Amino acid sequence: MHKRSLLNQIIGCLEIESENYAYADVNPAVLQKFMQLKKAEPVRFAKPAVKRAPESACSVPVSAPAANFAKAREGINPISPENALKPSERPELDKMSMDELTVKAAECTLCGLHKTRNKSVFGDGSRHAELMFIGEGPGRDEDEQGLPFVGRAGQLLTKMIIAMQFTREEVYIANIVKCRPPENRNPTDEEAEKCLPYLNRQIDIIRPKVIVLLGAVPLKYLLGLTGITKIRGTWYEYRGIKIMPTLHPAYLLRNPPAKKEAWEDLRKVMKFFGKKPAPSSKPQAPDNI
Ligand code: URA
Repeated sequence: MHKRSLLNQIIGCLEIESENYAYADVNPAVLQKFMQLKKAEPVRFAKPAVKRAPESACSVPVSAPAANFAKAREGINPISPENALKPSERPELDKMSMDELTVKAAECTLCGLHKTRNKSVFGDGSRHAELMFIGEGPGRDEDEQGLPFVGRAGQLLTKMIIAMQFTREEVYIANIVKCRPPENRNPTDEEAEKCLPYLNRQIDIIRPKVIVLLGAVPLKYLLGLTGITKIRGTWYEYRGIKIMPTLHPAYLLRNPPAKKEAWEDLRKVMKFFGKKPAPSSKPQAPDNI
């Protein structure tokens, strides 16, 4: 759609909404947020993910417009994860404790990854964590040890966590899939669909205040978006929790200059928690990350 006509449509929608909701008015910041929609390309999965709200003349989703406007005011991107992958239905997980879930995942045979796994990698860290990190899936070291992010990328992640003035023990770390994809390939849609109910239950048990998504894979499966290099650094929301997408530590190992951008994103998370980078810490990443 032409940018001008998109803008006109958005202004029209906002005007309609402002009649319905006292707190929704035509606000340039809101408009800017909507224009960012153009940057984030929704992922198209084979099966439609979630039923869309009925279309109205307005192209903005009508299901939760007021909530979206309010979120845009808070600086949270109003896109709802309606394009995200719909995970398999696993109601039996809803009442399970973390220990029960860990056992269930270790015995899981719902996708082909169980055939080549050494250990399943459920997650690690505090069950009361306010900050959670989500990666893609275990690599060779993680598969051997049964713990997430213990290889080279993991060492960098640990440094990033410390630079954020947290400890590894204080945060919680998990992945989109619990078993190692062979040759460290990305998980398939089917593997992610089968595994996501474990992660969703983990998130619901921990209820962190912020989740940092590490790279394109969690961005695709939790928010249904592609384009991590453009989307990084923007607040989103998933299951009512603030989400900050950033670059994957393995990418940062291959592209050290990109650490500056990741650090910008992590500083936003620090700010949310009221943490101030050390006075010497300039906008660029600290030397040790
Ligand atoms: N990369 C990931 O995404 N997760 C891990 O656990 C390790 C490396």
